[in-house]
Amino acid sequence: MRIFKEIQSIQNWCKEHKLQGRKIGLVPTMGYLHEGHLELVREAKRHCDIVVVSIFVNPTQFGAGEDFEVYPRDFERDTSLLERENADAVFAPTAEEMYLSDFSSWVEVTGEITTKLCGASRPGHFRGVTTVCAKLFNICLPDLAFFGQKDAQQVMVLEKMLTDLNFPLQIIRVPIVREADGLAMSSRNVCLDAEAREQALVLNRALGQAERAIKDGERDAARIKVLLREIIESSPRAEIDYAEIYDAYDLADIQQIDRKILMALAVKFGKTRLIDNRLVEV
Ligand code: AMP
Repeated sequence: MRIFKEIQSIQNWCKEHKLQGRKIGLVPTMGYLHEGHLELVREAKRHCDIVVVSIFVNPTQFGAGEDFEVYPRDFERDTSLLERENADAVFAPTAEEMYLSDFSSWVEVTGEITTKLCGASRPGHFRGVTTVCAKLFNICLPDLAFFGQKDAQQVMVLEKMLTDLNFPLQIIRVPIVREADGLAMSSRNVCLDAEAREQALVLNRALGQAERAIKDGERDAARIKVLLREIIESSPRAEIDYAEIYDAYDLADIQQIDRKILMALAVKFGKTRLIDNRLVEV
């Protein structure tokens, strides 16, 4: 497995593979890898000849006062996990090279898709995500890029960017990987103390009960949102950022659940903010 830190060297390497006709898969991550990330790598290995995993805690997608400084990092462990998955290359650039001191170009998807949910709680977050992904796509030249459904809004925003700007690649969505007890895997889970870790199970439980209510015939989105909130608020340490239901394709508001919907949660346990979601079709 090759490890690249410099943009020019991985770009040349990827160009060479492309010239040889190889299909390149890119798995963008912020590191501190877990089974969720590794599932993306396995999916990429199934589809592509060459799999590149980027590890970059992207400063531009963190707002002031967020956890950029304390975001967990362990490069040695990450590379040994990727070695075991037979990833072909790791790209781990420095922030200084990704954002030169006179950096001034941004890619921004506008509209409801970026102003709701995490776009409302984390202003500028998606602009950071789309900008860094546009850069990673230009550097690594992937045919396919792999993203987790765990970050449902992120993948919607990136698909919009690809369509609007005619990027010559496709996104493959990978389902959410969970711990045995149902908690969605996240690099931030290590930041939870034992009590918060236990209470965080309420996210998946709320989504499960809401889905069951819908399957049992409830069609009123407002009532389902109340149900989600009631269940989450039964955990004393949970502080709801949002618990929403939107159209699964464009995040349009809905009153009646008469199409595919996205139920999306963001909940804080102390300083740690977790997200989870579920797609439901009626
Ligand atoms: P991150 O390192 O948190 O930026 O995540 C990198 C990629 O891994 C993103 O596409 C995430 O959606 C995906 N990912 C993170 N956690 C999970 C999970 N539990 N299941 C599936 N994909 C995930």
